[in-house]
Amino acid sequence: MVLTYVEYDDGGVDDVSLEALTLARDVADAEGESLEAIAFGADAEGVAAELGAHGVASLTTVDHGDLDGYAPEGYARAIVQYAEESGAGTVIAPGTDRGAETLSHVAAKLDETMAAEVTDVDVGDAYEITRQRWGGTLIEHAELHADTNLLTVAANELSAADTGGDPAAVSTFTPDLQPSDLRVKLDRVEESDAEGIPLAEARVVVSGGRGTDGDFSEIDALAERVPNAAVGSSRAAVNEGWRPHDDQIGQTGNKIAPELYVPCGISGAVQHMVGCKGAENILAINTDPEAAIMQKADYAIVADLHETAPAIAEELEARGH
Ligand code: FAD
Repeated sequence: MVLTYVEYDDGGVDDVSLEALTLARDVADAEGESLEAIAFGADAEGVAAELGAHGVASLTTVDHGDLDGYAPEGYARAIVQYAEESGAGTVIAPGTDRGAETLSHVAAKLDETMAAEVTDVDVGDAYEITRQRWGGTLIEHAELHADTNLLTVAANELSAADTGGDPAAVSTFTPDLQPSDLRVKLDRVEESDAEGIPLAEARVVVSGGRGTDGDFSEIDALAERVPNAAVGSSRAAVNEGWRPHDDQIGQTGNKIAPELYVPCGISGAVQHMVGCKGAENILAINTDPEAAIMQKADYAIVADLHETAPAIAEELEARGH
């Protein structure tokens, strides 16, 4: 049996968990095994239909007072006990913070190895896995030899697929927890002080890349002039330490769909364009007329961003914005 740990909220199963199920389904099919899921919390049963539609035959819910919210070692203990009881040969988790943390504890408790950021598995005597390294800049091929195969699935790499199955059959599991399983336990959640409009919700995104040379002041100033605008960046700018990873747009960053996307000093690598292909219009600012972004943009300004961004901001100000 292939067991997948899934996360959910009021909106249903988390996207990265659905992507993990795509890989889990392939592994289960190749093994000729059933696909099961395990989810925590009082509302887990509510996602049985959605999981069934993504190929899950049965869902085990764990609703234990000591695990309310989140407790990584407690989650891991429950998964280990259930996996041993049910004979799961493979345990898969989404490549989320909690998925990776929980599965690491599962590996420690089982004294097993674990492969992270997996994008493909060829099932044979051993698992031949393809996985991402260094945030996706390297693709690694490796063999995994384990009694219980433990994998996290790289986020935003695979597509979720609705296979139209019946709702998953639901059963409950009560783990036998030790005090040591609760050394880390979620106490409370607070909103972070991050200001501004989330990239995914912004109507306009102004973005900077290596061409900024690390000076984002004009990009920030331009975004401030535009209602419902947010600032994004390319991975090069993140790698240089100019912007946090939360601002990154692309294959390994945010996927955005604004009315207008304004990439400044960004060349338009395919991995960047994956993140902004949902934009209705692209206005590129770049000194190089041959840059790939200039072919992909709806409007292109061949100019220095350090002159053009302030000029647009000034014009907006003059028009009362
Ligand atoms: P460059 O490619 O160096 O481009 C800089 C541009 O700035 C050039 O076009 C130049 O003409 C222009 N320029 C220079 N000075 C000025 C100026 N004064 N005014 C105007 N223009 C100027 N990249 C992402 O962005 N997001 C991702 O999620 C992502 N994921 C990746 C995943 C993988 C697996 C891999 C292998 C790569 C990934 N990348 C990603 C990296 C991607 O391939 C590019 O290396 C990156 O997007 C380049 O960033 P850039 O356009 O800022 O820099």
